[in-house]
Amino acid sequence: MNSAEQIARDVQSGSMSATSVLEMSLDAIRARNEELNVFLYVDEEGALEAATKIDARVANGENVGPLAGVPVALKDNLCQDGIPTTCSSKILEGWRPPYNATVVDRLLAAGAVPVGKTNLDEFAMGSSTENSAFGPTRNPLNPSRVPGGSSGGSAAAVAADMTPLALGSDTGGSIRQPAALCGLVGMKPSYGLVSRYGLVAFASSLDQIGPLTKSVTDAAMLLEAIAGHDVLDSTSLPEPAPSLVAHVNDGVAGKRIGLVRELVDGADEDVVASVERAVEALREAGATIVELSVPEFRLGLSAYYLIAPAEASSNLARFDGVRYGLRVNEGDVTAMMEATRTAGFGEEVKRRIMLGTYALSAGYYDAYYGQALKVRTLTIDAFARAYEQADLLLGATTPSVAFEFGSKTSNPMAMYLSDVFTIPSNLSGEPAISVPFGTGEAGLPTGVQLLGPGRSEAQLFAAARVLEIANG
Ligand code: GLN
Repeated sequence: MNSAEQIARDVQSGSMSATSVLEMSLDAIRARNEELNVFLYVDEEGALEAATKIDARVANGENVGPLAGVPVALKDNLCQDGIPTTCSSKILEGWRPPYNATVVDRLLAAGAVPVGKTNLDEFAMGSSTENSAFGPTRNPLNPSRVPGGSSGGSAAAVAADMTPLALGSDTGGSIRQPAALCGLVGMKPSYGLVSRYGLVAFASSLDQIGPLTKSVTDAAMLLEAIAGHDVLDSTSLPEPAPSLVAHVNDGVAGKRIGLVRELVDGADEDVVASVERAVEALREAGATIVELSVPEFRLGLSAYYLIAPAEASSNLARFDGVRYGLRVNEGDVTAMMEATRTAGFGEEVKRRIMLGTYALSAGYYDAYYGQALKVRTLTIDAFARAYEQADLLLGATTPSVAFEFGSKTSNPMAMYLSDVFTIPSNLSGEPAISVPFGTGEAGLPTGVQLLGPGRSEAQLFAAARVLEIANG
């Protein structure tokens, strides 16, 4: 499938119809969805209606928008009016939201064509998409491996050429980690750059929506279309969407890029080798590389696994058998809620709710949740100090290439470690991008991560583009 950039140009110029592009996308979904389990729901009718309208508008001489006729996949924790939204949980099975997430409205306004909802780890809790109540998603590059998670379905949709664009959400790494494992570009924007209205909340102070694409330019186009202030999200940044596509080819000449030891140590040799080659590529493009150590990053994982479950335990209280999806009728109201939540939530979600409730309980709050918040502040301060010495930071996205199914499911700690390099940016609320660079074990792609201070998305895309070009 062509890039979004190309498709939008062709559709807008009339040299290709949005309906024919959609047909290609649907054909690719039909060909491999059963094998890979990427989409939980395909909205053929709605997509056809949207594409037909776009073609009519083009015929009418109208400007359809920057994503004219581009099919896009939505992680199934994003609400789309009337379309089943499950968060890959039995507790939401059958629920159809009565409204669009702001990102969906913005996609439609930009001329994009949402084609369906993609699989994820239940409520975005996981790093392999094995925690889905509807079965795991397979990595299109090697179906015996995981696609990463929790936005594994969105990553697989793009990697399998089902759609050129997909949206995911990233609370601790869930866009960047599957992007790395599927050979894609994935960005977690600055906290507040993209409205969270209509994203089913996991950990509200960490959650951000962002793009998964094959190219840096496509990622910039997609983010530009969905970013910018939204009155429906009180945490949304006040200004309109920044100009991103225009800066993709700005390069890195004169930029100081900090290679962070803690974002490389512990990664497999193949991943480390790719980061080292990325350093060379950036240097050749005119950047100065500074070696840095940020010891606070080592504490990120522990802090995250208290803060995220604490917020989740509160956010998931709304799934009570009364307002959404599943209800298991039993005895009085308390018994009904208990039976509903017991039947509706999977094992990992229950583990998080228990962990979070414990961390927030009287007597433990200061020792766990309070302590984790202090580590979060230390992390934010450590980033600020690092950005005195470097404009952007560099490291690995993940410790390894895509791993085998089942290799981490019996050990939650091993699974949690998949996000050790991505979590610091969530704690600080700052942006980070994973860009495919090199290959590793079994010929699978390795991802390199670039991190920047708040609102540095344009610089991150420019640096990622340098790596994309060097990667060939
Ligand atoms: N893997 C991490 C977790 O399980 C991050 C998930 C995410 O970013 N949604 O919480």
